[in-house]
Amino acid sequence: MGLSKYVGRTPRGYDSNTTVERVASHHRWDVDVERRGDCSNCGTELELREKHLLVTLGERQGRGGERHYLCGQLCLDEWTDG
Ligand SMILES: [Zn+2]
Repeated sequence: MGLSKYVGRTPRGYDSNTTVERVASHHRWDVDVERRGDCSNCGTELELREKHLLVTLGERQGRGGERHYLCGQLCLDEWTDG
């Protein structure tokens, strides 16, 4: 799927110290927990039971670890100016 090409990019709205550290194709199986998230690019509400992209951001200063959900690669392209 070529998700590694997004690593090191800076998402829209962040300064250049913040970069994509990890992208994973992801879904949750614990169906008892009704969890939703909003796509960081387009704002669409995502059902986390269904497949989506989980993006972890890293920061050079060490904080980082921020998690974002995205619909898919189209949104990730837009969000990271691909
Ligand atoms: Zn989206």
